[in-house]
Amino acid sequence: MRKIKEREPSAELKILRLLHPRMQLPDRQYYLHLEKGYAGELQMDAWIEQGLVNDCLVVNDLLLEHKRKVFQIDSLLIFQEMIHVFDSKNFEGDFYVDANTWSSLAGREINNPLYQMERAKSLLRQLLQRRLGINLPIESFLIFINPEFTLYNAQPKLPAVFHSQLKPFMKKLNNIDSKLNRGDEKLAEQLVALHSDEPPNIEKPKYSFEQLKKGVVCGDCGSFMLEKGRSWVCGGCGHKENAQAAIIRSAEAFKLLFPDRKITSNTICEWCAVEGDRKKVVRALTNHFKRVGDGPASYYAD
Ligand SMILES: [Zn+2]
Repeated sequence: MRKIKEREPSAELKILRLLHPRMQLPDRQYYLHLEKGYAGELQMDAWIEQGLVNDCLVVNDLLLEHKRKVFQIDSLLIFQEMIHVFDSKNFEGDFYVDANTWSSLAGREINNPLYQMERAKSLLRQLLQRRLGINLPIESFLIFINPEFTLYNAQPKLPAVFHSQLKPFMKKLNNIDSKLNRGDEKLAEQLVALHSDEPPNIEKPKYSFEQLKKGVVCGDCGSFMLEKGRSWVCGGCGHKENAQAAIIRSAEAFKLLFPDRKITSNTICEWCAVEGDRKKVVRALTNHFKRVGDGPASYYAD
């Protein structure tokens, strides 16, 4: 197995992660839902990386578009003459499926995850045929990674892999007759080239610089850190980070949240809630960014 593309949190999750410690999110549940989904994807990655030894290529986290329809693929595996598509689902608890309706045992209906997967599979097939001239069979599976998930009344033909089936399913993948060639690599590269980093119209909560809580946020646990001499120490997990790294990380967060605002030493001092010596902010910014202009109007850019 060779990984061709790594996974990254979506642009939406990145922004919500940065906002979450600094403001009351209008829809915190939605943010937690995204975090849970991402955690499930990482668990699926670990399962693939630890178990898959067959000759195949793994392309993670593709955002593709065909006929102005955007679709996402969590993991795409290229075997000889065959493609597997995995859709990771980090569902937890007891669910029930009746015909095409999925619901929790308490009766709350959820979106049928098969629809989304079938849509992506169909769009992928069209994209491969029309744009790349490739006709390969595609098999897709819902990967239910959470051990505390049960789906009652599921049909054996459901294209799903439940937690108890992860091991035997991996055996099957490793038993596929597969010897890749240069064409398979080219296909993986073409798919990566078609990937778009920017999902269309993500809905961001409204926020302003003034309103957000200031300070340095821990990169490990999301708590605020306390300035202690030449470093910052996390009030939540105890993680220690040197001043330079903490300031640059915070400045990068600022850049992502406020792409239209200039990075100045004053703004970043305020953003990081630096109380003592401000020189370390200037030093960190000068080392990391290019300084544009002189005097009070100067700012920093990539
Ligand atoms: Zn922490």
